[in-house]
Amino acid sequence: MIPRLARAAIISLSALTCTAQASEEVNVYSYRQPFLVEPIFKAFTDETGIEVNVVFAKKGLIERLKLEDRNSPADLMLTTDIGSLNDLVEGDLVQAAASDVLEANIPSAYRDPDDRWFGLTVRARIAVVSKERVADGALKRYEDLADPKWQGRLCSRSGKHVYNVALVSSLIAADGEAVTRAWLDGVKANLARKPQGNDRGQVKAISEGACDVALINNYYMGNMLADPEQAAWAESVSIVFPNQGDRGTHVNLSGVALTKHAPNRENAIRLMEFLSDDQAQAIYAKVNYEYPVKPGVAWSPLLQSWGTFKTDPVPLSEIAALRVDAIKLVDESGFDD
Ligand code: FE
Repeated sequence: MIPRLARAAIISLSALTCTAQASEEVNVYSYRQPFLVEPIFKAFTDETGIEVNVVFAKKGLIERLKLEDRNSPADLMLTTDIGSLNDLVEGDLVQAAASDVLEANIPSAYRDPDDRWFGLTVRARIAVVSKERVADGALKRYEDLADPKWQGRLCSRSGKHVYNVALVSSLIAADGEAVTRAWLDGVKANLARKPQGNDRGQVKAISEGACDVALINNYYMGNMLADPEQAAWAESVSIVFPNQGDRGTHVNLSGVALTKHAPNRENAIRLMEFLSDDQAQAIYAKVNYEYPVKPGVAWSPLLQSWGTFKTDPVPLSEIAALRVDAIKLVDESGFDD
């Protein structure tokens, strides 16, 4: 039996621990949008008592982290593609976060071999084709987009957008630089209009008859179908997973990295682990129609309806390493001019 006095001491000690826990925090700089990550952070705080403070922005967060240097409050960076994860590594702005949980949850192709970044969701760069004007099976590979049969029928966002740069990197990895250079020229020659707008804008253009084919990230199909003003755009197209007969469809990652001077390092690693685990992975899948990195987490019904597909197995670290070459080729092709 515990003497009364000692028991009182234990109670007050646990009360103290609770107070200490309530003031625990972790600070996140996020390129991911509030609608997506806020439900995940709330679940994390409910489970751990650790508050999550977030700065949301569409750009400039890496520059900000760099300027703030060791005075930065940021513990974690959340990004929407492999390129920015690579920028963080190249800028010496992150540190390794070795963790058994992260290693168990995230397949090795989707994390840095040196633990400096971790993928959290997989996004496939799929093709969308007009249901009315493109026959089933007419487009099978990214490489086909350079075929003159598509002349005047392609729409694209900027060739220098990170999603397209990663795709071009994957083509360099698969086909080499010379073939990719010729591919860019061929695709440019097939464009119906100067590159413009975002991924959804290309689908809108197809629905309006401005072009017949475009490349988009898979989750935009889900986002558009869920939006009464955009559903008709999405319904005007069929989706194609390119290169199913050979290397597979190119995928990119959203991910997370631990900042070099993270003031709340332990809490940050706990949040990283939480982001890679079942509950958060299920929210990513449900709220934004992305593919969970963690095997076994259920896909959204829409993605399930598309079925499984083969993904290009080239490691994302290799895609990141080819980025400078990819940007150079896109520039030289005058793709956006
Ligand atoms: Fe996006």
